[in-house]
Amino acid sequence: DKQRLRRIAGIRPVTPDGKEVELAANISSLKELEVALGSGALGVGLFRTEFLYMDRIRFPHEDEQFDVYRSVAEKLEGRPLIIRTLDIGGDKQLDYFEIPEEDNPFLGYRAIRICLDRRDLFKTQLRAILRASHFGCVKIMYPLISSVEEVREANSVLAEAKMELDREGVPYDRQTQVGVMIEVPAAVHIADLLAEEVDFFSIGTNDLVQFTLAVDRMNEQISHMYEPFHPALLRMLKITVEAAKRAGIPVGVCGEMAGDLKALPIWLALDIDELSMSAHSILHVKERLLRTKQSASRELLPELLNCRTSREIHQLLQKFMEGVD
Ligand code: PEP
Ligand code: MG
Repeated sequence: DKQRLRRIAGIRPVTPDGKEVELAANISSLKELEVALGSGALGVGLFRTEFLYMDRIRFPHEDEQFDVYRSVAEKLEGRPLIIRTLDIGGDKQLDYFEIPEEDNPFLGYRAIRICLDRRDLFKTQLRAILRASHFGCVKIMYPLISSVEEVREANSVLAEAKMELDREGVPYDRQTQVGVMIEVPAAVHIADLLAEEVDFFSIGTNDLVQFTLAVDRMNEQISHMYEPFHPALLRMLKITVEAAKRAGIPVGVCGEMAGDLKALPIWLALDIDELSMSAHSILHVKERLLRTKQSASRELLPELLNCRTSREIHQLLQKFMEGVD
């Protein structure tokens, strides 16, 4: 089985009826990059930069960040690298950056909210990312976006960073693309508006499921309620993808669900452009992709959207998978 999987590492991820899906890796360290490259990842769809900020005594300087971003970009040899800006808060705390205790940390002071509050920190990271863009195909992605204003404010800090680099004569890619994570229900419902502001979307199902169902993703007592295959989630995915398609921007998925074999027909039916997942899932998903027709997945979509319960969705997908095997 291992050998068979290794053989397909070099094959392009295309369905039997010709739909190519960019299978990319989620990484949060340089070590994970090595695994990703070994699995034939076509890029990095989510670089979680938090690790750079963790297990230390102060915020990383611009040069320290630049060194890491540059080395990842170079190792990818031209394949896309989506760098997500700092996503701390919620479950991820830093020893040297105290966030006052909150009743609802996941709904609290975190991610882009911290970055827009502490623009000094944000600009440092954006400068480091921009500088790395000179050495590969780097894209910037903002987490936890819930409004158009946030995107515009973040972009204005980005514009400042660019102006500074221009003044200093430091090279960077002027075409660096900017995208947002769609992981808050509000973002889904203004996806058409957000799509006009950015170059791409990436759906973060981990948080989107949590916020859509009001189920804490860390709380084991209610983990049985954490249900990605919920009819509400299917509808949210559809809204998001339709908005992206209408605006002509690409849309990917980077939550855990992207690597779930059972979800593959959903992605094909919705015509998702990119799936970014843990490196060890890539070959499994590719193997299934090579055998799953997009046309058959598309035929399944109305039925999926008609399901009234998660159980019905699971059953339908199970039956579909058995037909593919
Ligand atoms: C997500 O929310 O789906 C996601 C990919 O981001 P994280 O898991 O880092 O919150
Ligand atoms: Mg998230």
